[in-house]
Amino acid sequence: MIACERYRFNDFTLINYRRLLSLALKNYSFSLFSTRKIYNSNTLLLRHDVEFSVPIALEMARIEHNLGIRATYFIQLHGDFYNSLEGKTFKQIKEIESLGHQLALHFDAHFWEITQEDRLEFFLIKDKETFEKYFMTEPKVFSFHNNNAFTLSCFKETYAGMINVYSSLFTNVFGYCADSTGYWRYEVLEERLKEAKDKVLQVLIHDGMWGDEVLPPRRRVYKVIDDHASFMKNSYDETLRRFGAKNIDWEGEI
Ligand SMILES: [Zn+2]
Repeated sequence: MIACERYRFNDFTLINYRRLLSLALKNYSFSLFSTRKIYNSNTLLLRHDVEFSVPIALEMARIEHNLGIRATYFIQLHGDFYNSLEGKTFKQIKEIESLGHQLALHFDAHFWEITQEDRLEFFLIKDKETFEKYFMTEPKVFSFHNNNAFTLSCFKETYAGMINVYSSLFTNVFGYCADSTGYWRYEVLEERLKEAKDKVLQVLIHDGMWGDEVLPPRRRVYKVIDDHASFMKNSYDETLRRFGAKNIDWEGEI
């Protein structure tokens, strides 16, 4: 079987994302993460770990909003791919929130070099306060970025007053389906939604693994990187034009 079929490249377009959500609405009702242990039957918790592209996350947020769906967007403060406190990105994140979605913290234990649970709360509070200060909303939930043996050993339901989506409740009791690294590693989301065998299903989506074109996962992420590079180059040229400054290349002024 060729890679395109084996890894279902066709699944990962935004048009198909909308179709999958419509399918989910037939069997599930969408809910936000909460500390209650009892959820109604056929509840779907839609989680976005915002990893690569805030513009794509925003497109997804709009699609969900149009379908009357609310999701939780986990935002990074120390990401390599975007700076959540930079003007354009910050506004896009606030727009996601204004569409009725919940903002939460995508926490990077590697940034703080945490390897023990007793240090976790201290650094979670640090990031929680920064998040709250800028986004003017309290993150009630967090997810770990790039799990390792340490983060997966943190089973408590809450840390620093925030729900841990990797607690035993969410990982052992509820169903889980993820698009991590751009393919369905365990079960295909479409089949899982049709079967609707889970009382509560957590679906994890990574923005940059989806796009307008049918591409392999690596190319989807490369496209995000290339689009961002083009945006920054245009923005540099535009700024110099606006200020009437010389913009000099090999051939002289452009
Ligand atoms: Zn992550």
